[in-house]
Amino acid sequence: MAARPTYVDEPARQVPVSGDYEVVVLGGGPAGIAAAASAARHGCKTLLVERYGFLGGMGTAAGVTNFCGLHANVHGDIRRVVHGIADDLLHRIDRIGGLNAPHLVLGKTYAQAYDTAAYKCAADDLLLSKGADVRFHALAAGALMETDGVIKALLIETKSGRSAVLGRVFIDCSGDGDLAAFAGAAFEQGDEDGNTLYPTMMFRVNGVEPVTAGEAWRSIPALMEAAERRGVRFPRKGAIVRPQKHSVEWRVNVTQVKTANGRAIDGTDAIELSFGESEGRKQALAFFEFLRREVPGFGNAYIVDIPPQLGVRETRRVTGLYQLTADDVISCASFADTVGVNGWPIEKHVSGDVEWRWPDIPGSRGFNHLPYWMLVPRGFRNLLVAGRCASMTHEGQSAARVSGGCFVMGQAAGTAAHLAIAGNTSCADIATGKLQELIENDGAYLGRDVA
Ligand SMILES: Cc1cc2nc3c(=O)[nH]c(=O)nc-3n(C[C@H](O)[C@H](O)[C@H](O)COP(=O)(O)OP(=O)(O)OC[C@H]3O[C@@H](n4cnc5c(N)ncnc54)[C@H](O)[C@@H]3O)c2cc1C
Repeated sequence: MAARPTYVDEPARQVPVSGDYEVVVLGGGPAGIAAAASAARHGCKTLLVERYGFLGGMGTAAGVTNFCGLHANVHGDIRRVVHGIADDLLHRIDRIGGLNAPHLVLGKTYAQAYDTAAYKCAADDLLLSKGADVRFHALAAGALMETDGVIKALLIETKSGRSAVLGRVFIDCSGDGDLAAFAGAAFEQGDEDGNTLYPTMMFRVNGVEPVTAGEAWRSIPALMEAAERRGVRFPRKGAIVRPQKHSVEWRVNVTQVKTANGRAIDGTDAIELSFGESEGRKQALAFFEFLRREVPGFGNAYIVDIPPQLGVRETRRVTGLYQLTADDVISCASFADTVGVNGWPIEKHVSGDVEWRWPDIPGSRGFNHLPYWMLVPRGFRNLLVAGRCASMTHEGQSAARVSGGCFVMGQAAGTAAHLAIAGNTSCADIATGKLQELIENDGAYLGRDVA
């Protein structure tokens, strides 16, 4: 019998052009929302391409339901340090009743929970109000190059078939660096041994009795330890089980999905991802049984949502003109080309646990600047990257990957795309002083007033 082929040839074909834009943003997570909103707000004809039928990225598709990194502990005073587009979006979420008050995290800073439905609707409303177009149910499948370092079009697959979207500047906010990888950009994945942060299948339960449950997030770790002494096994320590806006509903962040050899599931590997989805749901059910059995107030609870996809924290990190490092986060580094700040600590999802490393609190200002150069991939004229796939080391990304930093990077990238188009320059050659002036005028905080 003839050997089965490893490859088959696909005939070359012409594809229709389904859009001609100035700015094309791939991905509708916090980075993509902010990038598309700011590019459109500055008058660029802008398209956001998203594979799902809604915006929010991991924040909705993976059920994260909680904003981190909007605040920092500034010499002992916990302040909101991310503004601009983030303010506009949060205001819209709040207006439709979907935003919780900020809550204390590990006694050091605040995070803020939200409802996914409200986030999706508010993000639609935000982009509509700025005049950006959105192409839902469109999976990016390739990039066409004009010349070396210049992207001509993004190839997308949709129910209407394959097509090309032309653009002058492309912003990769896919979280996975898909567009940059298609275009041949350099990237890294994981630490020096290739280990990425472990993914988590989030889930939410409803029907919790709020008074009985009280501050159950404080007692759950001890209940887990007691159960472990009786032989119960959990995917990881550091469970995050917290109430949502309506305290009958709680989110649960505790699963951890790995391969048979203990490595984190690779979020760019379709076969591993497939295993991760069902394994994540299996772990969610098992932990839910523990909650119902052993945590007061959860006896009549039920699972109201297991989100559309496994929560992937880290895949490709595109190599840019600067790479944000752990030292930058811990030393609260300053950069002349700051476009905003990250106040979230290093939060490493390692095997079986979560490791935290904070800047000196209250000795430091509690945040580092995010420099423009971490958004500019090496060797490209018309490509920017923002969000969790921006240019950071594994540990730098463990901090600045959360929503706050992604909003900051996205807003800066969208505004920088406008400047590159207006000045007919490469993204690397825009005047960073002008970028800073524009984003400050649009409400962003650049963190230059505190040492
Ligand atoms: C389990 C978990 C818990 C977390 N907890 C928190 C938390 O409590 N608070 C917090 O602030 N952050 C949290 N994070 C981190 C945060 O959610 C993400 O880092 C953040 O959403 C990254 O934003 P982004 O815009 O860079 O990318 P993403 O949110 O990943 O968005 C990328 C978007 O691009 C789309 N996309 C990707 N590839 C393609 C393609 N080829 N074609 C079309 N569309 C594509 C995706 O569908 C998605 O909408 C958590 C993450 C995980 C996984």
